Amino acid sequence: MFANAEIDAICIDLDNTLWPIDEVIERAERITFDWLADHYPRVTSKHDMESLRRVGRRVAGRLPQLRHDLSHLRRLAFLEVAKECGYGTELADRAFEVFFAARCEVSCFADVEPALSRLAAAYPLLALTNGNACLDRCGVAGYFVGCVYARDVGAAKPGGEIFAAAARQLGVSPAVILHVGDDPVADVGGAAAAGMQTVWLNRSGQPWQLSECAPNGQARDFDELLQLLGVAATDAAGSASVD
Ligand SMILES: [Mg+2]
Repeated sequence: MFANAEIDAICIDLDNTLWPIDEVIERAERITFDWLADHYPRVTSKHDMESLRRVGRRVAGRLPQLRHDLSHLRRLAFLEVAKECGYGTELADRAFEVFFAARCEVSCFADVEPALSRLAAAYPLLALTNGNACLDRCGVAGYFVGCVYARDVGAAKPGGEIFAAAARQLGVSPAVILHVGDDPVADVGGAAAAGMQTVWLNRSGQPWQLSECAPNGQARDFDELLQLLGVAATDAAGSASVD
């Protein structure tokens, strides 16, 4: 599909594209709750996990201008809880670090790392995320030339700023960048509006539902992405297949 298209670089979303995120966040919140019970017990005598989530949603709802900075919002929620329960502000930084360490304990989908290895040999790969995953802690930094975070740009996908920042960092025109991601609006819609080529990573085989735009290609997983790009896949023994 892309065999004749000029692609000089690839941007790749992180959460739900390289790894599933919902259960990671759930586990990180559980670990943080248990840590709070040990270190700041007035918090967990007043709150359960769901009421702590409600504090987070309340803070996020009050500060929509910070929706691109999930780390900041979570720290602010911890600050609010600290104040409410009569603890010092250091609770927020300590609790956030416990949460963040667990939030970065991700497990890539099985097809991801072999494919990233092949792709990184053929293209500069730039991560592009609305989230706060640390590439290094997540164990994938070696495949990427860098990561553009919505919090650093000051705006989240699907806004154009983050895609423009990615093109600047890569030093190429958006037209020769392929963006790959799972979110139809944030990834496909945003990147297409910014002038990039797009592949929708559609692991669950959903029908495309947006009438205002469409991806240039769809892939069920990273093996299919390699096929779309004409990049040789890697067999189970680790050697490149030749066809
Ligand atoms: Mg995603």
